[in-house]
Amino acid sequence: MLGRVGAVIESNSCILQTSATREEERDVKQSTQRVRNPADYGYPSSDIVALSAKAIEVTRRTTEAYGESRFSTKSPMSMLVDILLSHRTRDEQTAAGYDNLLKRFGSWEGVRDAPVNEVQDAIANVNFPEVKAPRIQAIMRQITEERGELNLDFLCSLPVEEASAWLNRFEGVGPKTVACVLLFSCKLPLLPVDVHVHRVSGRLGLIGKKVTADNAHPLLQALLPQEARPIYNFHKGLLRHGQRVCVYDRPRCNQCMLTDLCDYYKTVVNPK
Ligand code: SF4
Repeated sequence: MLGRVGAVIESNSCILQTSATREEERDVKQSTQRVRNPADYGYPSSDIVALSAKAIEVTRRTTEAYGESRFSTKSPMSMLVDILLSHRTRDEQTAAGYDNLLKRFGSWEGVRDAPVNEVQDAIANVNFPEVKAPRIQAIMRQITEERGELNLDFLCSLPVEEASAWLNRFEGVGPKTVACVLLFSCKLPLLPVDVHVHRVSGRLGLIGKKVTADNAHPLLQALLPQEARPIYNFHKGLLRHGQRVCVYDRPRCNQCMLTDLCDYYKTVVNPK
């Protein structure tokens, strides 16, 4: 009898031990999940001066490798349409859709006042024309109502924060679109962060691993001189590097001129 009781006690203690172990494991797991490394969500190092020097050196080398781009000659209104068309769309398709709009309707006022299905038809080659056509027309109508004309040239003479806040209110116009319009057309110092700039900056270790593209805008911008030209060079340099060398799937590190500056290279590709 005692033997049986002993076995039951032993078995119960075994169950108790097992469940205690599970609880401990769960606690450890939960506390591990709760610990957020702040460096992943902001700058990866507290040495901002060194990060800034790295960003400037990256700009210098990528500009030397890919050349310096000219600023756009498109007006801010035309740039806004261009960038809205370009979301999740290849450059050639965007250019064709943009040209098609002007060819078919003659002006942005013509696009604004056209039946939405015709605008959608004119941009059928870009992705999501059914979303982009009504969105572009709604923004055009709102601009006309507020400004009395379909013209955004006034933005170029505003302080950058004011111009940015004005443009950021429209449905479908986020930080990247705002920065593209104000930097490319107005030469205002505001950094656009697209998928390439975001990916390459993360691998280089200019921003933490979990910083989103939207949150990367102010972090990266603060590392650069607050002038349009160096900001534009950084944007274009990282964009081209991301398209040609630091590609999404397998970065071509053996062709890269930034290995000595790159955290990904030092920790993943060639750890010492
Ligand atoms: S070393 Fe590799 S990961 Fe780093 S920037 Fe160059 S291509 Fe990208």
